[in-house]
Amino acid sequence: MSRLVWYRNDLRMHYHRPLQAAQAAGEDLRALYLLCPDQWQEHGVAPLRQWFVLASLQALGESLAAAGIQLDVIDCGDFKGVPKALEAYVKRHGIRHIHCTREYPLNEMTRDRAVAERLAGAGVEIHGVDDAVLVPPRALKTGQGGWYTVFTPYRRSWEQWLREHDVASVGRIRRGEAVTFPGSRVVEQALSKLDDYQRQRDLPAESGTSGLSAALSTGTLSPAECFRAARERREQGSKGADTWIGELAWRDFYRQIMAHFPRVSRGQPFRDDTGWVQWRHDQEDFQAWCEGRTGYPLVDAAMRQLQATGWMHNRLRMVSAMFLTKNLFIDWRWGERWFMAHLVDGDFAANNGGWQWSASTGTDAAPYFRVFNPVRQSQRFDPAGRFIARYVPELAHLDDKTIHEPWRQPLLAPDYPPRIVALQGTRERVTAAFQAARDLASQEQH
Ligand code: FAD
Repeated sequence: MSRLVWYRNDLRMHYHRPLQAAQAAGEDLRALYLLCPDQWQEHGVAPLRQWFVLASLQALGESLAAAGIQLDVIDCGDFKGVPKALEAYVKRHGIRHIHCTREYPLNEMTRDRAVAERLAGAGVEIHGVDDAVLVPPRALKTGQGGWYTVFTPYRRSWEQWLREHDVASVGRIRRGEAVTFPGSRVVEQALSKLDDYQRQRDLPAESGTSGLSAALSTGTLSPAECFRAARERREQGSKGADTWIGELAWRDFYRQIMAHFPRVSRGQPFRDDTGWVQWRHDQEDFQAWCEGRTGYPLVDAAMRQLQATGWMHNRLRMVSAMFLTKNLFIDWRWGERWFMAHLVDGDFAANNGGWQWSASTGTDAAPYFRVFNPVRQSQRFDPAGRFIARYVPELAHLDDKTIHEPWRQPLLAPDYPPRIVALQGTRERVTAAFQAARDLASQEQH
């Protein structure tokens, strides 16, 4: 009898609970990855991310081989091809148990249901584990018995749950097993610079964040391992570690939103009434935003960073998403897709959550309408203009006042594009459009 670890977005050996459970059974063990390039195409996955997954897969195959486990890779085309391919594989190798990490986007859940149905009569047991999150999406409910839709109370319950359940020690491979875990060093190194995280994390010119998002989103790194390391630092008094643990809570929060509100996976807004907002679909303005030619230095630097590196600083993701949706009033789904097509850490739940937060169609609980001013954000978070200078060389020679508002001295920056939109009146325009959407929604109800 054989067991199978079916790898998906969890391309690691260390801190991997499905693998650990399969190993503990003491039976023959194989590992499988079902490649779905057409699905990547449909989901608009960035080429850089595809490369990262394939490189991680190769490294995983080598680590598994060193531990005596064979990793097979089969091309299924898309998710629809998965049940048939898996059934054939299971029959060929006499598999009775499949171990995997649960996934929560709608298409992934549909795929897994189809697999369960196909294998139902074949005597194969599927063991799904909530190993891609710290707190399982079904674990926390509000006092009223519903799912959490507001982050702050969610985080309180999340911390409480983690005090009561020792997720950080679960998933460690037992001592003495012939596996080495270089990942631990990666985490320690990334966290070693985070003691001042609460101040540094908003400054794009500094490398003040962990840079672990690509590893966390492909699962080459376990959130439990990150949490354990950060919790140890927090216990030693690190305020930065405490703030950083909050980011892991955001990660879980958006995953549980996706698990419980499948409409967000269908391109719909989380808040129903905002489905009536009449977004602009202006190709020319959108293209200027994509290419970093809006005439707003911080926004342009951000968008050029994305193109150049496949990654963007969190503060800048908010600034550029807010600019597209509030200043240009362009459909947030266009921006969401553009980010996905370029981010090495493209993660459906976090990306969708971040875009809907920025567009005010999502879970943001602010009692007022949130609009960032891109010039003030620039002056506050890149005061000397160092980040702007790095990605917008046409402005690098300007002093630390002019670099945020080059239109005040147009002769000094002749190669930099003019502003494509005025900031004045943004809040009024956006507030009116959202009010009109609310009116339409209430007319529809009556
Ligand atoms: P750190 O600050 O070191 O944070 C540690 C980890 O916490 C991150 O690696 C990530 O896994 C998680 N995290 C941090 N912030 C958030 C958040 N707001 N929501 C969910 N998880 C978070 N993150 C992605 O991983 N993939 C995406 O596709 C993505 N798209 C985004 C789009 C928008 C519009 C916005 C506003 C945010 C998006 N984020 C996304 C969240 C955040 O910007 C990135 O996780 C972060 O910039 C990654 O850098 P880091 O690893 O150095 O982060």
